[in-house]
This record gives sequence, structure tokens and C-alpha cells, in this order.
Amino acid sequence: MRGLMQERPLLISSFLSFAAIYHKDREIVTRTIEGPIHRYTYADCERRARKLANALKGLGLQFGDVVGTLAWNTYRHLEIWYGVSGQGMVCHTINPRLFPNQIAYIANHAEDKAIFVDLTFVPLVEKLLPHLGNVKHFVIMTDRAHMPATSIPDAICYEELVEGASDDFTWPEFDENTASSLCYTSGTTGNPKGVLYSHRSTALHSMVANGKDALGMGSTDAVLPVVPMFHANAWSIPYGAPMSGAKIVMPGAAMDGASIYELLETEGVTMTAAVPTVWLMLLQYLEKDGGRTLSTLKRVVIGGSAAPRSMIETFETRFGVSVCHAWGMTEMSPLGTLGSLKAGMEKLPLEERLDIQCKQGRAVFCVEMKITDDDGNELPRDGKAFGHLMVRGPWIAGAYLKGDGGNILDQDGFFDTGDVATLDPEGFMQITDRAKDVIKSGGEWISSIDLENAAVGHPDVAEAAVIGIFHPKWDERPLLIVVRKAGKEIGKEEMLTFLAGKIAKWWMPDDVVFVDELPHTATGKLLKTKLREDFKDYKLPTIVAAE
Ligand code: AMP
Repeated sequence: MRGLMQERPLLISSFLSFAAIYHKDREIVTRTIEGPIHRYTYADCERRARKLANALKGLGLQFGDVVGTLAWNTYRHLEIWYGVSGQGMVCHTINPRLFPNQIAYIANHAEDKAIFVDLTFVPLVEKLLPHLGNVKHFVIMTDRAHMPATSIPDAICYEELVEGASDDFTWPEFDENTASSLCYTSGTTGNPKGVLYSHRSTALHSMVANGKDALGMGSTDAVLPVVPMFHANAWSIPYGAPMSGAKIVMPGAAMDGASIYELLETEGVTMTAAVPTVWLMLLQYLEKDGGRTLSTLKRVVIGGSAAPRSMIETFETRFGVSVCHAWGMTEMSPLGTLGSLKAGMEKLPLEERLDIQCKQGRAVFCVEMKITDDDGNELPRDGKAFGHLMVRGPWIAGAYLKGDGGNILDQDGFFDTGDVATLDPEGFMQITDRAKDVIKSGGEWISSIDLENAAVGHPDVAEAAVIGIFHPKWDERPLLIVVRKAGKEIGKEEMLTFLAGKIAKWWMPDDVVFVDELPHTATGKLLKTKLREDFKDYKLPTIVAAE
């Protein structure tokens, strides 16, 4: 028997039209690429998204066409998200930090018909023009006064495009399974692969992401998504904020400690989200002047890479800001787990609480998780056994765009995340490593993430990476690569002494080297493939000694 409830489609346009009615005066504040702070309301944003929707039709674009963006987090980018997806086109956020040849590859692979470009990325597009022959329109996201002299043919000025269009537009209704947006994985090997979200998957994901134990956004919040809109949907904040009526504060291109701090304080931000590198910069900025406080911030969501224990502790004990450690991936829209404490855990002594908060958190409703051995057998949820982390759910990719990578699901429909993890009896998941980064020593696995986190706990260490180096007896042994904080002198012996007692004895790195900087991926993760390449001929002193 079928239920008798209204079968209304879940559509992205409804998030913004809801906000335009029920939170119409709530602000969207942007540090613009041109410089000044811009502010307007949800009602303004929705009206301009309708104008843009008309303008796109005027350019000859149709339902199902793919529209690319090379853009920072700004109100204009938000208008594009809604103006494009809201009328059934597909909004393709391109990560401008990818290599230029990868950007050209994905714009062509996605068949982008138009690309919206922030001023910052105009030179990049100019360089790529010979490879972007199928893109019919380039729109530069600025006003007439700031339009650059450019070799982009027939470059359109965003403000003229929007303001020249009528706002007489009704958001259309269509099947909720229609594609809404597209984001490519920032694959470190091979070509990036396209993850194609739907209106339904996005709506379900955003509703759950707004929950109290997840991002926890409400109408009294002011949220600052530092995580870029081109990185896995900015973790759904630009979708969830209008649903909840939260004020949005967009950082534009400025992600340095001083700029972020200024926005946090002047705009009364209560919740913010980004990868650990951003918080490293903010905390270093705050450290420079002991007197700075975070007067309105209550919650910081940290994900994308493991949040170091010292970072979680500093936010909580020095600034009174609670940290929610989150894990997910582009293929998961992206949220999978969040580390909100369960009843009673908040009363635990600090060290025990931190043990829990260093884990990547519990699955949110709708995300099923299991860990398996190499043969696909499920492993116990005892917090000790670790295996391949497999996931299933309504906002998790079932296939990549155009079938790239073939069948990506196991026989039960689970997707292999490529992460190795433990699951504990309380449901908390802890990432041990990426399957390809884990160090295999004497048949056992060493977590490079755990070693890195322990190393950055030293006050003189700015950043650390651990990779496996060939060892004739053990197969691989860990090499610790450290970036010192400016003006600090820490050496190998002091580093190893610091680690003693914090990690298992047999995990102790065989050597420590110091470098000026570490390579990162386009989404701010350590680029281990490059490190392995750089250190491929490295001989550990433990081998040299044995020879
Ligand atoms: P991306 O699709 O670029 O967001 O990358 C997803 C991958 O980032 C995951 O599969 C993990 O390997 C890694 N990742 C995301 N969040 C965390 C976290 N909190 N701790 C450790 N690794 C993480």
C-alpha cells in the first residue's frame, strides 16, 4: 500500500526561497575580491539568483547544461549555485588549485558550456583558453568598473549580466533525482573523477548536516565557511545556512590568520569550518599577541585532514571554543562522521575527552559504515581492529561521471573510501591512514597520521609528515619529515625524545629530517606521493648502520 502523503520533490531552489520568506533580512556578508566588505540579505540573494537564472537562459543555456565556476566563497558564487542548480542546470565547482592541465581536463570532461571566473583566476583562464574551445561563455565575476583588460573573447561582466536580466522567474519543478552539481575528486594519481550530486542527495545531506550533533546551524548562528565552495560543497554550509536562517560570512580570497580573525570578531561569527592548515594559521596569528580572544565563536568544525590533538586542546582550553572533528569526502557530499560528544562524555577528564575528540566522530543518520579485511570480511567494532572503511547511503556516490573507474561498489552497495579505520563500541570512527599511506612494517601497520599528530604536538613544530621508507628487514619503516616553526631549532634527538611514551615503541621513526615546507594537494592535504618521490632514494640510518 502506498502512503498518501504529498510527493513534493526535494529541490535546491527551495532552500533559498524558504530563506527569502522566513529569514529575508538575515545577512550574507562577503569580503569581496575587489576589497571592500559587501552585505545584503537572503531576499536580495534570492532575487539576484532569479535574475541570473533568466540571464543564463538568455545566453542560450538549457536544462541539464553544465556551468563551471572558478571562484572563491562570495555572495556572487552563492547566487550562481542557486541560479544554476535552481533551474535544473548543473553547477560545476572547479578547484582552481588543481594543476592547469587538470583544470582543462575536467572542464572538457564535464562539458562545461559556460564558466564563471573570479578576478583572481582570469590569468589562469587566459592561459588555458586554447584548451577550452567548447566553453561558449566566460563570465567575469565583477562589475564594469573592475573589468580587467583580458584576452578572453567576449568576456561578460557579471554585474551587467545579472542586473540586465528580469527577476520575473519562477523556480521550476522537476524530478528530485535530477543532477544538481558536480565536483571532481582531487585525485593524487590519475585523472580527477566527477562526482555528480542530485537535488535529492543534496537536500537530504544538508538537512542532516544541519542537525545539532552535526554542524548544528540555527537561525541565531553566524557561520563562516572558510572551507571553499570548490572543496566538496563547502561541507554543505551554503545549502544548510539558508535552510536554517543562519547569517553567512564569506571570506573571499583572504584566508590568512589576520583576515579570518577580523571577520570572526567583527561579524559575530558563532560557527566556522575549515581544514587544519587554516586553523594552524589562525592559531599562530593568535599566539603572536597573547591578548587576542575569540569573543563570539562557539564551535569550529575541523576536517579534510586529521585535526591534531594540540589544536583541539588549544581551541578548547585557551579560547573556550568547542571543536567538532569531522570526516568525509567529495564522494560523500561530503559529510560522513562528526565528533560531537555523547551523553556523559562532556564530564570526562580533559585527556580522556581529547582521546575521543581526536577520533573522526560518529556516523550521521543515513550513513552506514563498516570496516573490512582485504577479503571483504567485516571486522569487529572494538576500537582496535582496523580495516578498509566502507560506506553506503543516499548521498554517497554510486558511480563516477561517465562511468570512470568502472563499478565502485561492492556486492552490498558499499563504497570503498580508500581510508583505513577503526570503529569503537560507541560508534566513533578513527582514521588510521589512507590505505596507500599506511606504513607496513614487519607485517603490521603503522599509522602515519598518528605519528604526524604526535609530532605536531611539540611546540617548535609547525607541520610534520610521515612516509614509509624501504627497509630490507621490515619492508618499510617510518621517516618523519618536519617543518620547524620560524626561529626554532629543534633537532632529531629532541624530536625522538618528545615522541617516546606517546607512541608504541616500534612505531618510533627510524629518522627525522627537517625541511622548509611540505607539499600539499589542491585541498590542503599533505601530498604524500610527492614526498615519496622526493625521498625515493633516501637511505635510513638504520639500514646504513646494518650494512
Ligand atoms: P576530499 O574528497 O578531498 O575531501 O578527501 C577525502 C579524504 O580526506 C578522506 O577519504 C580522508 O582520507 C581525508 N580526510 C577527510 N577528513 C579527515 C579527517 N578528519 N581526518 C583524517 N583524514 C580525513
